[in-house]
Amino acid sequence: MAERCDVLIVGGALWGCATAYHLLSRDPGVRVTIVERDATFEHAASALSTAGVRILFSQEESIRMSQYGHEFYGNFAELMGLEENPLPLAFHRNGYLFTAGSAEQSADMEENFRIQSSLGCDVRLLDSAAVKRQWPSMVADDIACAAWSPGDGWIDPWGALTGLFRKVKALGATYRQAEVTGIERDGNKISAVRLADGGRIEADIFLNAAGAWGPVLCEMVGMKVPVAPLPRQQFYFETDVTLEPFPLVRDHFGAGFRPEGKGYLAGIGDPERIGQFSWDVHHEWFEERLWPGIASRVPAFERLKVKSSWACHYSQNTFDGNMILGPWIGGAENFLVAIGDSGHGLQHAPAGGRALAELILKGRYETLDLTRLSYRRIIDNVPYPERGMRL
Ligand SMILES: Cc1cc2nc3c(=O)[nH]c(=O)nc-3n(C[C@H](O)[C@H](O)[C@H](O)COP(=O)(O)OP(=O)(O)OC[C@H]3O[C@@H](n4cnc5c(N)ncnc54)[C@H](O)[C@@H]3O)c2cc1C
Repeated sequence: MAERCDVLIVGGALWGCATAYHLLSRDPGVRVTIVERDATFEHAASALSTAGVRILFSQEESIRMSQYGHEFYGNFAELMGLEENPLPLAFHRNGYLFTAGSAEQSADMEENFRIQSSLGCDVRLLDSAAVKRQWPSMVADDIACAAWSPGDGWIDPWGALTGLFRKVKALGATYRQAEVTGIERDGNKISAVRLADGGRIEADIFLNAAGAWGPVLCEMVGMKVPVAPLPRQQFYFETDVTLEPFPLVRDHFGAGFRPEGKGYLAGIGDPERIGQFSWDVHHEWFEERLWPGIASRVPAFERLKVKSSWACHYSQNTFDGNMILGPWIGGAENFLVAIGDSGHGLQHAPAGGRALAELILKGRYETLDLTRLSYRRIIDNVPYPERGMRL
């Protein structure tokens, strides 16, 4: 006998759990099954993320999703706390600093600043002297303009993932540890998923929340998506000097870092190997591609020591660097996707999950209209990219 539910979610990490949370919070009667193949989330981006939450975006949808991300993760203990087991979540609001090095980048930054301010965001534009005053250990001569959002920061991603996972199970979601290996279609509807353990689950609605593996599931049903895994390396390092508290810095030459515990976290992507899964850590990447950049910004990083490192992947939208959200328009419309987050999905999962829950339960977006992130733009070949976004 096949199992059956109302909504079947493939992928039990942040997007899958955030959607299940909003579904069950709004309608406790809805039968939600989450199929997740790895209970340890060893390779899930949600567990390996830099976990930044920022309002430094250019599109209203992204900014509003981040604002809700702030609210959700800021009230996490209250929202997730099961009565006997309160769940605090570390949220370090050290701010974000984006730098611009050219007149063109500065113009983008100023235009983004105008939009961010109009949406009530606390963002300040700084010149190089102001950057130097605020963070004396940084070299700022090459900075033409910088955007500083002091209320932004980063969370503990593992705490968010395990908190949400625990909550959705308490709300009544069925958790099935298995790998989806096949998807059955009946006319213009998806009817069931097949599992590696021989199981089969039927449902009315299917959500592909499989992150960087999302395209594999799309391929099973014949949905073409411009999304591919983008290999990334993350490095944790320490220095022997005490520096002032830094924000999360994203530099105009592509490098970035943020404080993490006693040290710092920095990461770099490998666009040349987009489309491949690669779990090896290439230490020469740090030496050759990352270190020179971050040490030119903070000379004290010349004497850093790498203490740990890991490989992981973005679910990269190669079309416009933005999430694809909602039904497979023109295909099977009960097959929804939440993929292609391109490295900013942790902060958007709470609002994206809320939007998907509204779409599933009410047939329309209610709190935030995310229509522009739908699959329609892929069919129409009209990209909707962020202004000034870099890989
Ligand atoms: C290095 C790095 C830095 C990042 N930094 C930030 C940041 O600063 N801010 C931010 O907002 N976002 C950031 N992100 C992005 C963010 O982490 C992701 O957008 C988010 O975690 C994606 O969540 P997800 O649930 O979609 O996917 P994932 O967390 O990858 O989870 C997908 C799940 O699907 C499961 N799965 C896959 N295929 C199957 C199958 N066939 N059957 C069953 N289960 C399956 C996997 O086991 C996995 O657990 C970063 C990502 C990376 C990699």
